[in-house]
Amino acid sequence: MNEADSQYIADRAASAGYAVADRAEDANVVILNTCTVRDNAERRAYGRMGHFKSLKDADPARRLIVTGCLAEHDRDRMRRIAPHVDAIFGTSELAQLGDVITRWREEFSETDLTEERALRFPIGGSPDCVAGAFSRLRGFVTVQRGCSYYCTFCIVPHVRGRFDHRPMAEILSEAHQRVAEGAREIALVGQTVNAYLNPVGDGDFGALCSHVARIAGLERLSFISPHPKDFTREMLRELSQIPQLNPRIHLPLQSASDPMLRRMNRKYTFSQYMEKVSWIHEFFPQAAITTDFIVGFPGETEQDFQSTLDCVRSGIFANAYMFIYSKRRGTPAAHWEQVEPAVASERHARLAEAQNAVACAFHERKVRTEARALVQGVSKKDRSKLAAKTLDNVTVIVPQPPDYEERLYASEPWLDVRIDSAHKWGCGGTVVRRARRFADRGSAVKTPLISLLTA
Ligand code: SF4
Repeated sequence: MNEADSQYIADRAASAGYAVADRAEDANVVILNTCTVRDNAERRAYGRMGHFKSLKDADPARRLIVTGCLAEHDRDRMRRIAPHVDAIFGTSELAQLGDVITRWREEFSETDLTEERALRFPIGGSPDCVAGAFSRLRGFVTVQRGCSYYCTFCIVPHVRGRFDHRPMAEILSEAHQRVAEGAREIALVGQTVNAYLNPVGDGDFGALCSHVARIAGLERLSFISPHPKDFTREMLRELSQIPQLNPRIHLPLQSASDPMLRRMNRKYTFSQYMEKVSWIHEFFPQAAITTDFIVGFPGETEQDFQSTLDCVRSGIFANAYMFIYSKRRGTPAAHWEQVEPAVASERHARLAEAQNAVACAFHERKVRTEARALVQGVSKKDRSKLAAKTLDNVTVIVPQPPDYEERLYASEPWLDVRIDSAHKWGCGGTVVRRARRFADRGSAVKTPLISLLTA
C-alpha cells in the first residue's frame, strides 16, 4: 500500500514540475512516507523525523512533510515532538498532499529539469515506488482502503479505517491510464484485495480482475494481498480463466496452529486454509504460493510453533515473509502476555532456516531453464547488474548485457533469462533475449566475444 501511495505522490510531484535531489540536504521539499505495521518501522520513522530538524535548521525555507500510516495514527504526538515538520497528511489525505506540493512549487526558483534530474529515485527508499524509466512498467492500482477484519495483532484497521472499496469504474479508468503510460503489468493493491466489492453496482474481485484483463495492451496482471477467507472456489476458477494473471498467489497464513489462528482472529482454520491451497493447485497448477508468518504471537506454545514449522517443512511455500510478533499500540494482542523475546527469536531462526531450504529447492528447480522476467532496474547491491522478476515473482540478478542502456531496456523490458544459480533470495542468470511485448519472441542479446590467442 505504501509503495502504491508513494507512486501517487511521485506522480503528483513530477507533474507539478519537481525534480529529484541527489541528497535530502539539497531538496526544497522532503517527504517521508511512514509505515507503522511494525515497531522498528515506527522507530525508524521517528529517527528520520529527528534528522529533518537539522535539514530545517540548515535551510528554514525547506518544506518537510510526513505522511503514511504513522502520520494517521500519531498526528498529535508528531506535532508535539516534531514541530519543525511543516505538514502531516494521513493515508486518506494524499490528494491534499498533492495539492499542497503543487502550490509550493511556485515558491521555489526554477529547478533544472534535465533528464538526469527527472524524478527517479527517492532518497533512502526503493526505486520501485517512484516515477522513472522502470517503475512505470508495473502500475500499482489501489482497489480499496482500510480493512474491517481486525486481526488482533494488526494496526491497519486502526490507522487506515474499515473497508472503503473504490468504484470499479474508477479503478478501471486508473488501470487504463497506467497501461497508456507504459505499464506492462497492473498490480491491484488492497489490504484484503479479494474482499473487493464494487460499492456502486455489481462486481466482486473476480469480476474486477476479468474487467482489468480486458484493457487493450495489458500484458500481465497481479494482485496483493488476498485474505484466505475470501477465496471461493468459484472466484479462483474465474481468475484461472484470465490469461494474463501471473502464476503467483500470496496467501498469508500467519500460523498453522488453530488456537493461534483463533487468537489472531484470522477467521479460518488451518484445514480451511489448506482447502484453499488445494483449489489453487487445482486451478493454477504452475503457481507459486507465498505466505506470511508471525512467530512468537502472545500465547504461542512450542507445540503451536511446531505446527507452523511442520507446515513450512512440507514445502508448500515458494517463499515466506517471516516476522517476530511486534506489539502495536491499541491492538488487543499488545495487552496479552508476551512470549519471551529470546524464545521468539530462536523460533524465528528455526522457521527461517526451514523456509530458506524450501525456497532454495524451489529456485534450484529453475536452474538450466529459461524464464521470462520483467526488468526492475539496476541491482541495489551491485550497480553492474540488473534485477528482474519472473512471472512467479522470483528475483533474478543478471550481469548488465553489453548493449544495456536504460531507455532501451525500459522500452524492451521483457528479458528471457537463462537461470544459472539458485539462492535463498532468488536466482542468478544471464540475459539471452529481450522483447518489447510479452507475446513477442524477442531478439537475441549479444554476449561479448573474446579473442584468446596464445603465442
Ligand atoms: S486482514 Fe490483514 S489488514 Fe486486515 S486486520 Fe488482518 S492482517 Fe490487518
